[in-house]
Amino acid sequence: MAKPAKNKKLGRNDPCHCGSGRKYKDCHLIIEEAARSEQLLLRQAQDSLLPKIIEAAQSVPEQFPEAFARFWQNKYPFEQMSDLDAVEDRGAERFLTWFAFDFHMNNGRTLVEQLNIAADEGSFEVDPYERRLLEQWRTVRLRPYIVAEIRKGKGMLLRDLLGEQEFDVTDYNAAKRLEVGEVVVGHLTPADTPLDAPVPNYYLGGAAAHLTNDTPQKLVEFAELHLADMRRERPDVTWSDLLEERSEVLNHFVIALPREAPDPSVMERLVSDGRIALQLTKESVASLLGRMLPKDEEPEEPEAEKTDDSEEKPA
Ligand SMILES: [Zn+2]
Repeated sequence: MAKPAKNKKLGRNDPCHCGSGRKYKDCHLIIEEAARSEQLLLRQAQDSLLPKIIEAAQSVPEQFPEAFARFWQNKYPFEQMSDLDAVEDRGAERFLTWFAFDFHMNNGRTLVEQLNIAADEGSFEVDPYERRLLEQWRTVRLRPYIVAEIRKGKGMLLRDLLGEQEFDVTDYNAAKRLEVGEVVVGHLTPADTPLDAPVPNYYLGGAAAHLTNDTPQKLVEFAELHLADMRRERPDVTWSDLLEERSEVLNHFVIALPREAPDPSVMERLVSDGRIALQLTKESVASLLGRMLPKDEEPEEPEAEKTDDSEEKPA
C-alpha cells in the first residue's frame, strides 16, 4: 500500500495507512507515538550523557598529563588547560572529548569503554536511554570528515576523509556553522535513531575542530605519513588501526594551521616536516601505502647508480 503524503495529516478515525482496514487510532497511531517519544528521550540522553562522561573523567585526573601532552604534542604545559578554550577554539573541551573517546588509560581501556563496565556494575548511573547510547559510543573515535552536503534545517551529509563512508548527521545546529567542502575533525556519535531505521542518526558529540576548504587533501597526506610509519612494522594496518592508536595526530594537524588567513605554505611545511620527523621519504611513503610515486615528483634520495647489470635484457 502507498503511504499517505507526509503533509497530509491522518485523522484518528481514518483507515490506517498500513492497509490493515482498521482505524488509525486502533492501529499504527500508538506505535508511531511511542516511537516519537522514544526518539525524544534518546535525544535528551544525547544531551545528558556527554556531560556525565566528562564529569567521570574528573575522577581519573592522574591520567590527564600524559593524554594532554599527546593531544597537544607538548605545545602547552598541562597547567594551561583552563586557558585552552580561549587559546585554541574550545581547546579544553576538545581535549576532554578526545580523552573520553580515544585515549587508552593505564588499564588499556578508553574512558567510554570503562564506563560501559561501570554502568553494568552499577557504579556509573545512567538511565536506559543513556545506557543504550553509551554502548553505541564504545567504538566512536576522532575522525576527519568533509562536508558533502548541507540540508538546511535538517542537518548535513559528512564523508569520512579516510574512507568512503558517508554519514547522515541530523545535528542541524552543527550544520548551520559549516559549508560544503569544509572539514570537521570530531566525534560522530549515534544518537536519536528510531528503532526501525536502517542507519543511525548521528550528531557531533562534544567539541569539534572546523577547518577551511583548502585543508582536506593536506590533512589526508599528513595522516598518510602516520599510516606509512605504522606500516613499516605492521604492513597490514588500516585507517582504523591508526585512529585506534594515534588519533591525536589529527589534532596536531589542526593546531599547526594558521588561525587567520589561509596559508598553503604552512600545510606544505607541515607535511614535509612530518615526513622528516618520521624519517620517511616521499618514495618510502608511496611504497608503504602501496602506490606509485607521481611522475612529476622526484625521489628525494639519489637512486643507486645504474650499472649495466640492472638493465633488463630484451627477451
Ligand atoms: Zn496500521
